[in-house]
Amino acid sequence: MTANRTALVISAHAADFVWRCGGAIALHQKLGYDVTVACLSFGERGESAKLWKQEGTTLEKVKAARQKEAEAAAKALDVHDIQFFDLGDYPLDLGAEARERTVDLIRAVQPAFMMSHSMWDPYNTDHMNTTKFVLECRMVAQAWGHKPGEKVLGAPQLYLFEPHQTEQMGWKPDVFLDITEVWDKKRAAIECMEGQEHLWAYYTNVAENRGNHFRRNSGGQAGGRAARYAEGFQSVFPRTVDEL
Ligand SMILES: [Zn+2]
Repeated sequence: MTANRTALVISAHAADFVWRCGGAIALHQKLGYDVTVACLSFGERGESAKLWKQEGTTLEKVKAARQKEAEAAAKALDVHDIQFFDLGDYPLDLGAEARERTVDLIRAVQPAFMMSHSMWDPYNTDHMNTTKFVLECRMVAQAWGHKPGEKVLGAPQLYLFEPHQTEQMGWKPDVFLDITEVWDKKRAAIECMEGQEHLWAYYTNVAENRGNHFRRNSGGQAGGRAARYAEGFQSVFPRTVDEL
């Protein structure tokens, strides 16, 4: 029996993986992949405004609530494994210790592909710092001289998932993934994010818009796939192919 193929999502805050690639996660789980999600922080300070408006809130209470939501969302998406690095947010502390832990995770998972944030995000430096950090960790995981004897990483694609204010981030998708068959799972995961109810309709709309792009690019008016919901990604590395 061959082991399942794997994928690794690295999310700056606890909820990012839900909005930005929840469909990709659920779909690949359905395809037989084991998808691991690493949440570098809970988004406890910067992405939990609704919780902070409640009387008597503390940092620990917010973190616990965010972890609970993220775990429920991961369950809805059939995530294989979710890990919380608890590095603090706004800003994330991406020092040597975090790098060591992330490289170890990448090598342990040996992902066929990886996912993270846009390269540029002036509104949320945690997001773009995460991507730079992920590229650095990917590079270290590929180095034969890093912890010699361990299995080194191959060359997995890094897909950048869609940021919150798309055009402002210089993000341009080159891949559209049809997530129609797992949309119910993504919507269920979205609804686990009770602290960010203001985003539910927004990200449903994003998925519908990307569904339009999928249809147009898969055949246009001549008869594209009838995708209703999709996610867009920007790939960092070129693809190597045998046929165009
Ligand atoms: Zn975030």
